[in-house]
Amino acid sequence: MKKIMAADRMKNITYAIRDIAVMAKEVGKTKKIIALNVGDPNKFDFDTPYELKEAVNRAMLDGHNYYSDSAGVDEAREAIAKHNKKMGIDCTENDVLMTTGVSEGISMCIAALANKGENFLGPKPTYPVYTAYSNLFEVENRLYPLDEEDEWELKPEEIEKQITDKTKGIVLINPNNPTGGVYEKNVLKEVVEIAGQHNLIIFADEIYDMLVLDGEMHHIAEFSKDVPVVTFNGLAKNFLAPGWRCGWMTFTDRAETMQHYKDAVFQLGRARLCTITPQQFAVKPALEGGQPHLKETIEKLRRRRDIVYKRINEIDGLSMAKPKAAFYSFPKIEFSMDDKEFCINLLKEEGVTTVYGSGFNMPEHFRLVFLADEESLNEALDKIEAFVKRNKK
Ligand code: PLP
Repeated sequence: MKKIMAADRMKNITYAIRDIAVMAKEVGKTKKIIALNVGDPNKFDFDTPYELKEAVNRAMLDGHNYYSDSAGVDEAREAIAKHNKKMGIDCTENDVLMTTGVSEGISMCIAALANKGENFLGPKPTYPVYTAYSNLFEVENRLYPLDEEDEWELKPEEIEKQITDKTKGIVLINPNNPTGGVYEKNVLKEVVEIAGQHNLIIFADEIYDMLVLDGEMHHIAEFSKDVPVVTFNGLAKNFLAPGWRCGWMTFTDRAETMQHYKDAVFQLGRARLCTITPQQFAVKPALEGGQPHLKETIEKLRRRRDIVYKRINEIDGLSMAKPKAAFYSFPKIEFSMDDKEFCINLLKEEGVTTVYGSGFNMPEHFRLVFLADEESLNEALDKIEAFVKRNKK
């Protein structure tokens, strides 16, 4: 029998974050590994709130193990609509679609958005799921650069430069992965203006909206007026439950311009039956329970962020802007070493895993996740310092 070959379109489906993890597993057979590559809080000293585990457990024991409605469990959708409204994200429960993590929501939204030859805009550095699905669905993902010199702020004029007559939408990741940046209110308002002028839909990936370390975070749907906005969120990060794969998206459509598009996305939801049922029973207690876990989570993250920010900037050859949210930093390699070589050699020589910037479409950088405890972070930073000293010419 002949070999079974994958379709050509699979050539461009890459995901550096997981690729480096495969390499780390190999190196880990002979070397101690300090993992600063994965954005999974549950691999470190963070755990899902007990009440949420209880809610899922109870849901299973009470028999909620059926295929749920394709759009999701009513109780969860109602709680999301109520929570969103409090934040100015205009919607009803009928505008909420539950998904298998935000990742599934992203894939559905891109699949339904554009034809071959059309495009949508996304940030650079990007979060690689957007580029992976744009390649899969043969839709161009045009990138607008974020401003590293201004704490990775979004510059609306850079968005405008990337718009063509084939552009269908704009993705905003706020708070941002991999930069940890949070966008200013006025900037969000300007993006709304631009989207309105060019008839574009806005996709607001706000999965880190409760993990703000400094300042304030604003939801763009609050300012969107008649511009249609799809807002992504979920339990993965804010509620420390990434493995539950419980995400959702909300359609805010004050001028009713995206009904056709919304129907298509809900149709895709029906084609895959439903998302995981028992986990959806944790959504209401999560959103209505006051989120007592956040205080300690944010305090720990702030301390860890401060260590990384200070120590990276003390290393001759590296620099970084201060992350304001989430658990990501995106330092710059300021000497002549390719970012892939930097991350792979740092892993092989020192046992520290990070992700190369080119995995986020931005070479000369690497992503360093600051979820590890302070002692491990300091140990990893000692190793990074020694590595840079050895390699900087
Ligand atoms: N969007 C962003 C910006 C992310 O950082 C991640 C995960 O790291 C996701 C989406 C995926 O979220 P989920 O685990 O809900 O699929």
